[in-house]
Amino acid sequence: MEWKNLGKSQVLLPAIGLGTWNYTGGVEPIREGIERGAFLIDTAESYGTEEVVGAAIRGLRDRVLVATKVSPRNFRPRDLAAAAERSLRRLRTDWIDLYQLHWPNYTVPIVETMAAMESLIDEGKVRFIGVSNFSVWELQEAQAALSNCRIVSNQVHYSLIERSIEQDVFHYCQQAGITVIAYSPLGKQLSRLRQHDPKGVLPQVASRSGKTVPQAALNWVIAKNNVIAIPKASTVEHVVEDCGASGWRLAEADMELLKTQIRYRHRGRLERFAQRWARHAFQLSGRHL
Ligand code: NAP
Repeated sequence: MEWKNLGKSQVLLPAIGLGTWNYTGGVEPIREGIERGAFLIDTAESYGTEEVVGAAIRGLRDRVLVATKVSPRNFRPRDLAAAAERSLRRLRTDWIDLYQLHWPNYTVPIVETMAAMESLIDEGKVRFIGVSNFSVWELQEAQAALSNCRIVSNQVHYSLIERSIEQDVFHYCQQAGITVIAYSPLGKQLSRLRQHDPKGVLPQVASRSGKTVPQAALNWVIAKNNVIAIPKASTVEHVVEDCGASGWRLAEADMELLKTQIRYRHRGRLERFAQRWARHAFQLSGRHL
């Protein structure tokens, strides 16, 4: 397993971590992943999987990095402190390695939220602050709201078939030393990757490297500087296969072939702006996605 730095810190992350949204595998696949070097486990208070992560890391706590997320509805300081306590309890741990703001919340001043995040660091309950689904200006605003800490990561949608971040977020994170944690790196379902591959390039590229389609798709993502991927796999077989996406490199020509031949989404700035405003309006109405 390759390692990459978490932000500008000296802490190392595996190039492949374990996602747990809609995870149904119990403790075994997570334990197998940890054994194979995928020691970053990603969950969220909204996933309903913090308990199974807590059970899976029992006895292994010092060997793993636990990443969880606080939901936007809990971004007010008192709510955030309570949400962190609940996550710690469900995870059966004394500390969260990476605590991430799941989505921006435009109805709570980010300065208040970040002050609460820094208090958790001061109390030793959180080691690092990350965000998720943040645009460039949201990252800048969030960083400016912190007094003593740096944002170490931005967890964003990134795969062969979803490359919207390449327009700006990706480059900003490179410059700012913020790790990109790629979610849905297998396109949410392998069948979706195939649908975007009309010429069958992925299986050709995979077999040229002696690898499988999921391994080639994940390798394309983690070949990028400063990017790790967190596929979700609910079976031991899938976890083993996904861990095998690291430790080798697709040939440059094959990277290029995948880049040009797989059909992908590239949401324009306008579309992303409209999406954010829709979310903003939803939050202002007192609701949260
Ligand atoms: P994904 O990892 O791109 O794809 C998951 C699907 O791929 C599942 O159906 C899984 O099947 C299958 N799979 C995994 N390994 C496979 C293999 N080797 N062969 C065949 N199929 C394989 O999608 P995702 O769950 O959306 O994203 C991954 C993680 O990112 C989530 O679990 C979550 O932690 C995070 N995420 C974060 C956000 C956010 O807003 N921050 C949003 C979405 C996701 P099985 O389950 O049957 O193994």
